[in-house]
Amino acid sequence: MGFTQEIQRRRTFAIISHPDAGKTTLTEKLLLFGGAIHVAGAVKSNKIKKTATSDFMEIEKQRGISVATSVMGFEYNDHKINILDTPGHQDFAEDTFRTLTAVDSVIIVIDAAKGVENQTRKLMEVCRMRNTPVMVFINKMDRPSKDPFDLLEEVEDELKIQVRPLSWPIGNGPSFQGVYNVFENSLNLFEANKPTVQESLAIDDVKNPELDNIIGEDPAQLLREEIELMEGVYPQFETQKYLKGELAPVFFGSALNNFGVNELLNCFIQIAPTPQPSETTTRTIEPNEDKFTGFVFKIHANMDPNHRNRIAFVKICSGKFERNKNYLHVRQGKNYKFSSPTAFMAEKKSVIDEAYPGDIVGLPDSGNFIIGDTLTEGEKINFKGLPSFSPELFRYIENADPMKTKQLNKGIDQLMDEGVAQLFTSQFNGRKIIGTVGALQFEVIEHRLSHEYNAKCRYEPINLYKACWIRSENTTELADFKLRKAQYMAKDKQGRDVFLADSSYMLQLAQQNFTDIEFHFTSEF
Ligand code: GDP
Repeated sequence: MGFTQEIQRRRTFAIISHPDAGKTTLTEKLLLFGGAIHVAGAVKSNKIKKTATSDFMEIEKQRGISVATSVMGFEYNDHKINILDTPGHQDFAEDTFRTLTAVDSVIIVIDAAKGVENQTRKLMEVCRMRNTPVMVFINKMDRPSKDPFDLLEEVEDELKIQVRPLSWPIGNGPSFQGVYNVFENSLNLFEANKPTVQESLAIDDVKNPELDNIIGEDPAQLLREEIELMEGVYPQFETQKYLKGELAPVFFGSALNNFGVNELLNCFIQIAPTPQPSETTTRTIEPNEDKFTGFVFKIHANMDPNHRNRIAFVKICSGKFERNKNYLHVRQGKNYKFSSPTAFMAEKKSVIDEAYPGDIVGLPDSGNFIIGDTLTEGEKINFKGLPSFSPELFRYIENADPMKTKQLNKGIDQLMDEGVAQLFTSQFNGRKIIGTVGALQFEVIEHRLSHEYNAKCRYEPINLYKACWIRSENTTELADFKLRKAQYMAKDKQGRDVFLADSSYMLQLAQQNFTDIEFHFTSEF
């Protein structure tokens, strides 16, 4: 197969949802279609059930599972599909944000009874920022659900995207009879726990009287009315609008019953984007360029504390990646070759010789990579779009075992490179401050410092509202700001200036009084 064909047949995407909406179940059904797994239950949920209480087993389990399910590749109808897993727990939202920078599209799963939930809303903001094309799967139609029109309106309002249903549900809960596929004009009758996909019935038009015989007169009448109304309210589906991230096709179904999943997948491979160009600070990289480029979007530590090896997950942006070939690590200015790059097929990992744009390869790493690092065949470029987000929770981190200072510093350093949290050094008192998006990260850090680095840390409270990166062309004003806010100034790991506001009021005031200073809430600007 030619290089261009290899690119054209790839689809790299993530499934996002609020916990419990059905992401794991849907992933599993998709893998079953691809023949990548053969039994249900093979995909492990990477959920952490508890919110903020200590449960180290859960943390360890989470880490173990998340390396196994980070990327799931499978073949389906001559397509190579890569599903990138995202942690459902909100404390790991930053991990999810970074994963979203490595996908070309997204499928959003929504619980039909609950509608749009909090976590979905937040993740959609990231998709919107990047104009990522999204498809929506409204799940659990076998349970009593909200009215489909209300659900669609909710998606439009809350996720701020135009929608277009490509299938329509017939009833819900106990009265759920199936879906009418508007895309293909066919009727798909619901049957609980279908082991295989049954044939759908071709119905050229909902007006066909045959429909009354199949689903009953009243439901058929209602379906006709609803579809007529729906066609009037929602615009025709346009693939171009979907690809621009302006219009989301919507499917209804039940992942648990493997219902509506095949339709989703078939439409997905037809319309979902092939590997897309990537922006660097200097130029746009096209996937079909013949030279390899890629970036690290995730780093995973080894589960074995005695081996501090890690896996760097590299998204291939252009060219062909080859085993044992020399590549430039742009930040270090050094060449490396990789003798055992791994690819991820379903739950299996295997060493590969080559990989193509859209693929993810796992590179064993002994500490050379940090998130955002670029690999090329020599060109000095840096990919954009891997920002750190302004953390919301802060604590001072202190050494609790003076004999282990070196271990502690090394541990903190590496954990920050992995993107577990962000480290700021106060310019006022020199103390180290850890900033995170979720409370669980503090536990993860403490636990891993002790288990992997044999170091002990202690936290002390610090009352902060937000950390923001500041910049200004006006050097006088910047110097004045730093002087007056000396108590609140810190440096991030890259040495950039960070302002630590202790209240929203203080931040507002600073923004008002120093109009030449830009306050940034992500590290990339
Ligand atoms: P995740 O947290 O989004 O990964 O959700 P899971 O896939 O783990 O699903 C959460 C729960 O909902 C599990 O108990 C599933 O069995 C259940 N579930 C998923 N899909 C459906 C569905 O279509 N119908 C019903 N009734 N339950 C479902």
